[in-house]
Amino acid sequence: MLEEKLKIDKISKGTVIDHIDAGYALTILNLTGIDESRNLMTIGVNVSSKKYQTKDIIKIENVFLNETQMQQISILSPNATISLIENYKVIEKKKVELPKTIKKLILCVNETCISNSEKEPIDTEFLVLDEKPLKIQCVYCERIYNLEAIVFTSKEKKEKKIIQRIQL
Ligand SMILES: [Zn+2]
Repeated sequence: MLEEKLKIDKISKGTVIDHIDAGYALTILNLTGIDESRNLMTIGVNVSSKKYQTKDIIKIENVFLNETQMQQISILSPNATISLIENYKVIEKKKVELPKTIKKLILCVNETCISNSEKEPIDTEFLVLDEKPLKIQCVYCERIYNLEAIVFTSKEKKEKKIIQRIQL
């Protein structure tokens, strides 16, 4: 416990995302868009943990997460905890909650799925069948996905942004 505190400095105000599944911190930063923040960030990857052997941890100053970001984290790391820090103290601590259905955040890659219809595109919706390891099912075409097969919508948007920049 003490060793861990020494490794990662405390922050005065902001958010600590702890108990991230080892190796997922960078994916979480990218997916939530936190990586675009200009605030001070401390990232611990493969930090030793009593509970899970190893874990990742993200500390970011002056940033508080919104609902979408919390959901994105819950998909990647259902055991993650979010602590809100003010004056170096934890004022609120909660575990992320994976919703029973995930809306809009994930794409269905099945081309014939109604969620990909060009005429009348509808928001994607997935039923959470299992939390860990994650197993979700598209409510429209019933295709089942595990964590490795998931394509997030925000990532797609980011790729589009980059393409647009290149075209300019
Ligand atoms: Zn589908």
